[in-house]
Order: sequence, then C-alpha cells, then structure tokens
Amino acid sequence: FSRIAVLTSGGDAPGMNAAVRAVVRTAIARGIDCFGVHRGYSGLVDGDIRPMTSRSVKNIIQRGGTILKSDRCLEFKEQAIRWQAYETLTEMGIEALVVIGGDGSLAGARLFAKETGMPVIGLPGTIDNDIPASDDTIGFDTAVNTALDAIDRIRDTADSHGRVFLVEVMGRNSGHIASEVGIAGGADFVVLPETEVRSDTFQELSTERTRFEEKSALIIVAEGENEQRIHQIAGDLKQQGHEPRICILGHTQRGGSPTGHDRVLASGMGAIAVEFLLAGYGCHMVGVRSGAFFACPLDEIHLAHPESAAEQSFDSLWRLLK
Ligand code: ATP
Repeated sequence: FSRIAVLTSGGDAPGMNAAVRAVVRTAIARGIDCFGVHRGYSGLVDGDIRPMTSRSVKNIIQRGGTILKSDRCLEFKEQAIRWQAYETLTEMGIEALVVIGGDGSLAGARLFAKETGMPVIGLPGTIDNDIPASDDTIGFDTAVNTALDAIDRIRDTADSHGRVFLVEVMGRNSGHIASEVGIAGGADFVVLPETEVRSDTFQELSTERTRFEEKSALIIVAEGENEQRIHQIAGDLKQQGHEPRICILGHTQRGGSPTGHDRVLASGMGAIAVEFLLAGYGCHMVGVRSGAFFACPLDEIHLAHPESAAEQSFDSLWRLLK
C-alpha cells in the first residue's frame, strides 16, 4: 500500500485517539501515507479526508473523545452511498481503510469491504465491551473506572445516611459495565439488561434492612432499553418501605482521559491493524483473546469463543462475594 485512511465512528470511546495515533505512526514507519477521515462514515461520503503526519497525532494519547470526530451516518446503510464513499477514496489514491468503532460501525465496515473489495481492518472501539469475539474493547476499562469513581463517592453518602442508592450505568444491550462495576464497587445487587426484576427480587434487602436499620445499599442498574426501568425499581422499593435515591451517571462515563490499560490496548490494536493490512487481511477486526491479538473475520465478531465463559465467571464470583 502507499496510502491508507483511518476513521472513528459511532459513540466515542476513550482510547480512540491512542488507536489513531498508533495507526498513523505505524503506517509512516512502514512508508505508507495515512489520511484521517473526519466525522466517521459521514466524512467518507463528503470527502472530508485530510493527510496526517506524525506531528498531527502528537500529544493526543492521553485525550478522551476522538480528534477525528465521530458521527452516526444513517446514509451509510445504503449500498449506493457506500459505493460513493469508495469512489471518493479511490480518487484520492487510498487503497485501504481502518475503522475504529462499535458493533454498528464494524457492520458497516464489513459490508464496505465485501462489496467494494477494498481491504478494511476494524478495531473494537466502544465503552460497552459488547463485541463477543474480543475479550476487551477500547474504552471499556476507562468507562468502568469512571463509573467506579462516582460510585465510591455515592457509597460514602449512602453509608453515612443508611440509604438505598440506585445507580444507573451505561449499557443498552450489554451488562458488562454494570457487572464489572458491581463487583469492583461492592454493590448489593446488579440489575443487568436481561435480569428479570420481580416483586420479591429485593426481598433479601428488606430482610437485612429490618435487621440492621442503618444498613445502606447500593444497587447498580444497567440502562437497558427501557429508560423508565430504574424509576420502576425505585417505585417498587418505595412500596416495600425504602426511600431509594436515584443517580444516573449518563454521559459522564463516556469521556475522560483513557486509563493506562486502554492506552496500551488501543496502541497495540492500532499498530497491529496496519500490520494485518500488510499481511493481506482485508475484512477483519483486531480482537484480543487471552491477552493476545488475533485477526477475527468481520463475519464472526458476534461469535463468542467458548473458552471465555465471561458471564459464567461473573455469576460464580458474584455468588461468592454477596
Ligand atoms: P456504539 O457501540 O458506541 O453504539 P456503534 O459503532 O455500534 O458504536 P452505531 O450508531 O450502531 O454505533 O453505528 C455507527 C455507524 O455505523 C452508523 O451511523 C452507520 O454509519 C454505520 N452502520 C451501523 N450499522 C450499519 C449497517 N448495518 N450497515 C452499514 N452501516 C452501518
């Protein structure tokens, strides 16, 4: 290759900048010119594509968000628009693409690579950690630690006043943030998107609070599809005689400086993306499994590898710690 491009798409995630930096610097080290596409797939469609140098990625490894900007580009779901994007790239002499984003962005990358034949490598960049083929995604560790910071503070207040706090963390379809935060924050209950909340779910809490009147409690709720869920749970708890307080962490979890872990993960994935392109991969994602990077076909990113058993280990750990 003599020219490649990189873009960030979907929700921003801390560590995306570190990944962009690694793609640009590795490409330059390999004698390849690298271009930055602004605003995700929207920039591909509009031709908002600019040359990048080693200097243009200076001093960004520690910054949250994405210097390339991100976007949700509904048009990219149309085949004709994807061909338009392909033409924009080929007119500029760009021969391959690196896409950093979540599930949706990787679905777009897969279609683009299959239809046009242009080599594309995806990097899993999402705070949700909801790409089953990879043990980890860029931004997840930072989001967990950001949520934990807030939860540790909430616990101080909950303990001082013997209150029940319901804290909503991000994760529409995925309970990964909630489960890690629940364990690391020493929560009493974790409500995952798939958890069925029944009238007796918090019975144990009521029994314990009757025995120890000053007992505080922390309940972590994954945001899920139903925005009212946390309010419904609060309503149930009120009926059972508690005075729950609600705290919704929302977008505070998305930004911020990436943790060391996310910087290292993103740097490794960014560098490997370029190496994978040079090795001839062209419709793949850089995944991480048991600490090692691997090339996962974009067709298979939804297949969980059997040995990970992440959910099972969460359940058994949770039972031990409760
Ligand atoms: P996050 O995990 O933060 O939600 P994401 O990458 O999953 O990130 P989406 O909004 O689902 O975020 O997708 C980002 C963009 O990817 C979309 O705006 C669209 O441009 C493209 N995209 C998503 N799904 C598809 C698809 N099925 N076909 C083509 N392009 C898609």
